[in-house]
Amino acid sequence: MNMVNVKINGVEYSVPAGITVLEACKYAKIDIPTLCYLKDINEIGACRLCLVEVTGARGMVAACVYPVADGMEIQTNTPKIRAARKTNLELVLSAHEKKCLSCIRSTNCELQKLAQEYKADEDHFVYGEKGAKVSLDTSSPSIIRDNNKCILCRRCVAACNKLQGIGAIGATNRGYDTEIAPSFEKVLADTSCINCGQCIVACPVGALYEKDDTQKVLDAIADPTKHVAICCAPSVRTAIGECFGYEPGTDAQGKMVAALKALGFDGVYDMNFTADLTIMEEATEFLSRVKNGGKLPLITSCSPGWVKYCEHYFPEMTENLSTCKSPQQMFGAIYKSYFAEKLGLDPKDIVFVSAIPCTAKKFEVGRDGQSNDGMANVDVAVTTRELGRMIEQAGIDFKALDDAEFDMPIEIGSGAGAIFGATGGVMEAALRTAAEVLEGKSFEKVDYEEVRGTEGIKFAAYKLGGVEVKVAVASGTANAAKLLKGVQDGTYDVQFIEIMACPGGCVNGGGQPIQPAVVRNNIDLRAVRASVLYNADAKLLTYRKSHENPIVKKVYEEFLGEPNSHKAHELLHTHYVKRGL
Ligand code: SF4
Ligand code: SF4
Ligand code: SF4
Repeated sequence: MNMVNVKINGVEYSVPAGITVLEACKYAKIDIPTLCYLKDINEIGACRLCLVEVTGARGMVAACVYPVADGMEIQTNTPKIRAARKTNLELVLSAHEKKCLSCIRSTNCELQKLAQEYKADEDHFVYGEKGAKVSLDTSSPSIIRDNNKCILCRRCVAACNKLQGIGAIGATNRGYDTEIAPSFEKVLADTSCINCGQCIVACPVGALYEKDDTQKVLDAIADPTKHVAICCAPSVRTAIGECFGYEPGTDAQGKMVAALKALGFDGVYDMNFTADLTIMEEATEFLSRVKNGGKLPLITSCSPGWVKYCEHYFPEMTENLSTCKSPQQMFGAIYKSYFAEKLGLDPKDIVFVSAIPCTAKKFEVGRDGQSNDGMANVDVAVTTRELGRMIEQAGIDFKALDDAEFDMPIEIGSGAGAIFGATGGVMEAALRTAAEVLEGKSFEKVDYEEVRGTEGIKFAAYKLGGVEVKVAVASGTANAAKLLKGVQDGTYDVQFIEIMACPGGCVNGGGQPIQPAVVRNNIDLRAVRASVLYNADAKLLTYRKSHENPIVKKVYEEFLGEPNSHKAHELLHTHYVKRGL
């Protein structure tokens, strides 16, 4: 690697040639303030918060886009720099609806934090007409856009374009009138937005947020005629601790369960159970398609953002999608039928809630084909962030809680179910089951390392029961598009594909706690959160294969018959539509 010598605030460092001043400052353990910069996603030098002084430049330069040069001297914290940053902050604030008291991002807002640090005067500049309030876009089932709070940093635009390859939102109009919105004055619901929420977790302020469904949950809990049950997706436990000050990568399962019980839920369950059920259905579907000449490659369907993406952008491939409902929907379907009977409940009295890392799940609960006997499988889907807010507002001291266990009779989920939250996890879980079905014996080795990791597209091939099975895994819909185009033009020959809409999988979902750029730019949240799931799989859980989960076995014995049975199809499978653009 070519290195150059630079001086940062008078101290010499040797740093790789070609990097930016911002990156070089990390060698000096200095974080330069930013608002628009997100590593590898949005590097546009627009907000001018990262101004620094360097030798050889006229005036101050934006550190996020200015490359280092040998012999360069860099100053990051002179009075001139601090004054310029403060002025730029005050300009941003002049066009911003400053309602910190009630803002959803208060205390987790990058603008608020910088304004405090720089003692910026929010009323220093008056921006005339720009103060006029614009209406909120509440059309989406998942996301609210509030342009009164938008600071035009374009992080959301870059996330939607680069990570997801969608471009549902962009900068419209020019200069003073610029705003971020869908084109042609559409509302978000009328675009090909897949509700993934990657724009929300990229946004530094309160201009984008999830549709809050917590009141529906609290009302149901307060209604004595209702039985309110909640199931928790694997990824929620990997991140909910972040809402209460724990480091990313903290497994907070025990405290999460205790907090939900304290909130008053009548049943608190582990969605790993229906991740296992999904594997039983999906692995059987795959083997049946291989045997009977069905549509291949089979593509997983547990990520509703991905499913909607497929419907919009690859409608000709919707037959490739597995017909399996997602784990949250399977849970609601089985809870309001088999378990309702076991627990002596009238399904009409059940309010079934899912706790999920994903904003697209809010869209999924209302989709056609996601109900049985006239009842929605899932009544309300709340994100990890909403769960965190409910716990906080109830005055529950999360950190002080003793760990609690999931409730009977659905307290067991396997390690295969746990790793569903990470990219490659569904594929690995399916392979664990498919291998044993095809080989007709049990294997000690259950780790399929080739499909693990945060790489956007992964390929692997395995010999199972004398058959070569070629698989692929993609996360982030921009990667999904690359993979599918390769499948369509014959570049890639695969029989089974896992796709998750969010880069890195559900652990990095759009409903997870929002970490500021200073964290996102310095650690790989996807890998750190996923490590919680792989650790649970390897060390904490009794069963590591979905088909060994004793509750899954019992549900088939007593109720469903066998995977892909008529009853299983009725309750656990769905259909898709071709949406186009
Ligand atoms: S976005 Fe930030 S600065 Fe603006 S009102 Fe909300 S908390 Fe305050
Ligand atoms: S939710 Fe996803 S698809 Fe929709 S605007 Fe945001 S990033 Fe784009
Ligand atoms: S909505 Fe948020 S992320 Fe998008 S441009 Fe506005 S402030 Fe930036």
